[in-house]
Amino acid sequence: MPESRAVERSIEPGNSAVCPVCDETVKFKARTQGRQVIANIYVKDVWARVEHYHVECYEAAGQPYGEPQ
Ligand SMILES: [Zn+2]
Repeated sequence: MPESRAVERSIEPGNSAVCPVCDETVKFKARTQGRQVIANIYVKDVWARVEHYHVECYEAAGQPYGEPQ
């Protein structure tokens, strides 16, 4: 059964995803040390979407999709 899960990855150049916590683009910033959390979100066992978070925003939100792998 698929579950929503999160992984920590480096931020790639050109990434234009918007962090759902702070509504800012997840782009390289020194304060994040180039790390992001990518969450694959499943709703009712069906893949729904991917969300990109700043590492600190994901932690501030209480790791809604579990501890990043
Ligand atoms: Zn953020």
